[in-house]
Amino acid sequence: MVKHIPRGCELCLKGAKLVLFVTGLCDRWCYYCPLGETRKGRDVVYADEILVEKDIDVILEGRAIDAEGTGITGGDPLIRLNRTLKYIRILKDFFGEEHHIHLYTNGMYASREALIKLKEAGLDEIRFHVTESNRHKIKDAKILGLCAGAEVPAIPGEESRLRDLVLYLKRIGADFLNINQLEFTPQNAYQLKERGFELDGPAAAKGSEETARKVIQWAESEGIDLPIYYCSSSTKDNMQLKMRLLRRLKNVIRPYEEITDDGLIGKFLVIPKAVLPGELRRRLILEFGIPHYMSRVSADGQSLVIHRAFLESVLKFFPDSSVVYVKEYPTAIRERMAKIPLRY
Ligand code: SF4
Repeated sequence: MVKHIPRGCELCLKGAKLVLFVTGLCDRWCYYCPLGETRKGRDVVYADEILVEKDIDVILEGRAIDAEGTGITGGDPLIRLNRTLKYIRILKDFFGEEHHIHLYTNGMYASREALIKLKEAGLDEIRFHVTESNRHKIKDAKILGLCAGAEVPAIPGEESRLRDLVLYLKRIGADFLNINQLEFTPQNAYQLKERGFELDGPAAAKGSEETARKVIQWAESEGIDLPIYYCSSSTKDNMQLKMRLLRRLKNVIRPYEEITDDGLIGKFLVIPKAVLPGELRRRLILEFGIPHYMSRVSADGQSLVIHRAFLESVLKFFPDSSVVYVKEYPTAIRERMAKIPLRY
């Protein structure tokens, strides 16, 4: 039953949400916690894949993906409430009030005072990964005027618990329930295996989707008009991440690079034999009039990156050069995905 997808999800599916990981600290220790070892239990901040050292890093990443909103996550962001408040204010100040911010918390530290501060700072939406004992915090958030709901994994065999949550959310007038597909990650794989869960596809836990679907069908058949949204692991990988990288791509591409058919950054590396790459570049600019912004010496100093349009001319005058075509992900660290020797 999808009545209204939460605004936070809408933007996420467009790849328009910056994912701001405020801290890896969390006092709940769920056995299925998907956090990787560089984040879990570590008090670090990441804006998408970038380790944040200064506040400006958050803004720059937001600009790089043309962010229309931010999803604040962790760990539990409320363990670092002041830090979270600071980022909400920075983001709203820089990107404007319409920049939609949602936050994901386990609710342990969601006191009334904390919720008031979050609301005052400009938080738009809050999602609780609650237990039965603290789910009343969703109601507290609603009373304070926040858009509030629950976000939980679909654990195979726990349908009745999910149904109970649906009834509770309906009773208190919550805005939504998001059900995520339970996923295997390198960090939780042992715990999930120990509990008898099995893989279904590259990362999904077998039976998780079925559990979510059954709960949604049951809610429909009961006429429960709570918006329920199911987010599969493939939706996360194929849509959310892919869309975000495509948005990033058009902002980070350099004049001497190109966008490949598969949505990566493509570029030609020329490795000259007779001259150093820096000297080759200087001559191309001075003797052949190639604009300076159409080439660059590679970070390792071994080659010259040059735009496709000038490759033929370069090879005409420096015929003994080798050429390699590389493809990279448009992330901050630009993971190399392919290296194709064209001439050597
Ligand atoms: S609440 Fe979230 S971050 Fe904390 S342990 Fe559970 S899954 Fe991990």
